[in-house]
Amino acid sequence: MTAATRVKGWCPSLLAPMVSGDGLLVRVKPSAATLTLAQAQSLAQAALRDGNGMIELTNRANLQIRGLSPETVDAFAAAMQAEGLAANDGPFEQIRNILASPLGPEDLSATFDSHALAGELEAALAQSPELHRLPPKFGVLIDGGGALSLAGHEADIMLRAHSGGLGLWIGGSDLAAHVQPGSAVEAALALALAFLTLGSSRTPPPRRMRDLVSQMGSAAIFAKAGLAASPRTPPVAPAARPMSGPGWLSLGLPFGQIEAPRLLSLIGKARALGAEALHCTPWRAFVVSGLAEAAIEDLQHWARSAGLIISPDDPRLTIAACPGYPHCASGRTQSRADAERLARSGLASGTSLHVSGCEKGCAQPKAAHFTLVGESEERYSLVRNGRAGDTPVATGLSLDAAITELRKGRSNAPRL
Ligand code: SF4
Repeated sequence: MTAATRVKGWCPSLLAPMVSGDGLLVRVKPSAATLTLAQAQSLAQAALRDGNGMIELTNRANLQIRGLSPETVDAFAAAMQAEGLAANDGPFEQIRNILASPLGPEDLSATFDSHALAGELEAALAQSPELHRLPPKFGVLIDGGGALSLAGHEADIMLRAHSGGLGLWIGGSDLAAHVQPGSAVEAALALALAFLTLGSSRTPPPRRMRDLVSQMGSAAIFAKAGLAASPRTPPVAPAARPMSGPGWLSLGLPFGQIEAPRLLSLIGKARALGAEALHCTPWRAFVVSGLAEAAIEDLQHWARSAGLIISPDDPRLTIAACPGYPHCASGRTQSRADAERLARSGLASGTSLHVSGCEKGCAQPKAAHFTLVGESEERYSLVRNGRAGDTPVATGLSLDAAITELRKGRSNAPRL
């Protein structure tokens, strides 16, 4: 590992890997949530060569690559930079957190081209070194609305389609400024600078916009950015998102994970069907675009047989599970295979489930109604309303015994 890459204990990026139970973990942040098929292929090949081949989609539509080592992490980073999937500048790469609605101009029902705006914002951020001091988790969301809108997802600064134009919200506030498309980037940068300026007088400085809002209110932040804001209701999250539309197909990843060989197969199939790109979503799905109508059906058949998710009701979308044994050296149980069994048991409905190969709880840092934690080969402990590292209420459970416990406990599970 060189000076260019520094191990971090939290919030990893490509140049700041995080130590995890299965080695080093890095995040790749495709611009405008999109990879060409050639970029996706390079990423999958590099993940196989330099890591353990496990790739995850995060709730910010980033790709998380697992199982790298100090000997391979630089080669992986260089490969991603060569593909245009990361910046060379470490501080900029760390704060290059722009979540765009997945389809961009390919969503004909969107109000504006979120990808074009994301590109403009990224270029402007690169040219604004004063903003490279933003906290690493600070991010901007750009939602063009339409079929695959980001309604329901949040960020520190949010540009959303609103009332036929653009609304600019900040995290933790119901106030929004109405902006013209031509001034949206300038307004977003002004808000980011206002966050840094106002936050610098606080001890400790806030790490997220919502922290600053709770300390001083949002009106002062909009005023500092030179923006007039008034109460506006943001778009409401849809009950379910469509899985396909004109020219595109959404494919869910079981438990948000895909192995590099399966991703390479998907890329090969998509390429053969004339697809152009792979878009990342914050809801654990890839969207394949550039498909003819007949190709959509073909890809759907292929995806079902490949074990990918093609229905919004698939319970695997709601269970968190880490790779576990044999993919992770720390895994004591086959957490993902066991999560598949749990999904088939019907237990996923109405409760949050987390299956973890050990107490590190990589798949879900927050609490779940029920967390099964790998204890020894084929044995789990059960944590109720907590995290993987919390004190269990039962230990030494086979998966069958755990399912029985979950059935008993589900009816009176409180909301978290
Ligand atoms: S939680 Fe899962 S992925 Fe993380 S170290 Fe444990 S077994 Fe490995």
